[in-house]
Amino acid sequence: MTGINPSDICKLEEIMTSAQHPVITTHMKPDGDAMGSSLAIYHIFKMLGKKDTRIILNDRFPAYLDFMVDENIRDNIMIMDDDADAIRDTVRKSDLLICLDFNSFKRTDRLQEILENSGVPAILIDHHIGPDKEKFILTFSEQNVSSASELLFHILMATSFIDRNARRLPPEAATALMTGMTTDTNNFSNSVYPSTLQMASALLEAGVNREVILYNLFNRFSENRLRLLGHMLKDLLKITDDNVAYIVLDKETLKRYEIQEGDTEGFVNMPLSIGSVRMSILLKEEEGKARVAIRSKKGTSANRCAAAFFNGGGHENASGGKLNIPEDIADIRNAGEYIERCTHIFMTEYNG
Ligand code: 5GP
Ligand code: MN
Repeated sequence: MTGINPSDICKLEEIMTSAQHPVITTHMKPDGDAMGSSLAIYHIFKMLGKKDTRIILNDRFPAYLDFMVDENIRDNIMIMDDDADAIRDTVRKSDLLICLDFNSFKRTDRLQEILENSGVPAILIDHHIGPDKEKFILTFSEQNVSSASELLFHILMATSFIDRNARRLPPEAATALMTGMTTDTNNFSNSVYPSTLQMASALLEAGVNREVILYNLFNRFSENRLRLLGHMLKDLLKITDDNVAYIVLDKETLKRYEIQEGDTEGFVNMPLSIGSVRMSILLKEEEGKARVAIRSKKGTSANRCAAAFFNGGGHENASGGKLNIPEDIADIRNAGEYIERCTHIFMTEYNG
């Protein structure tokens, strides 16, 4: 971490204290970090006495994160599929927008059009490359942290209401922050900085129960998910001559194994355990497109590959994107050929 500017913390405190109708949002298809950071700031607003706080999401959060969301919070989470008109209304009436874990409103999908020109002052707290600073009245952007949850933790610690004492965090906020950091680091296997371990240590000392978090995150999946993992590694994994591993999960396969949102989290990392593999790509077919997850080893840029060939971006070694069907590929059955062609160009021309 390069450090948080104290004058930005003063501004943040002033803005948070005076807000009456804060709205919290994060990227589409929220993951552990997106939900962890959003829920943490939600609990901080509650602590500050803000009764009218809402979280707005483009997509429902995956079931494996439901342990962080009790009934009372659920009532204050609005999702585009259910509540588009109510979300519009809530944003119109709000006086502060807190944006977490994304660098551009594009990453909020259908919320973009509601949020971008709303005129509501917006604050960004994020750990991706290239934040869209001009859209925000205050930006906290730091890439040398594990997660948005970690950045938020360090910001909160610097505020006068927490005052460097993690025990002052509402317990639900502390749990949410630990959860977000744990999922973005794959349980401490990547993006771990000294500041990450300092955060973990302070939160443990403050009473966060990591065993409960780990149980909820990693030990509650269906049998089918593990069977798909077996099938995938044995039969679907391909490795190209350019040392790129890729897997295509079509709709039929996902249906056969009754795969839910979040079930394939982390699968894309596994092929990187093979010594020769430089980059791993996982495609999941959805309606009219395939979602793409890309991970790479040091020296190979997942971010550049995602931007050049997969309509996406993210971090240097962990990125994502999508392939539109039929604009980018005629059919999901052409995905393998597309990946092999593009990654050959990427590994030989872009990444030399
Ligand atoms: P995941 O593969 O876990 O969904 O995402 C890994 C990283 O890539 C995350 O940091 C996420 O923000 C980024 N990412 C995922 N999908 C997209 C996308 O469609 N566009 C961009 N710009 N980034 C993405
Ligand atoms: Mn994140």
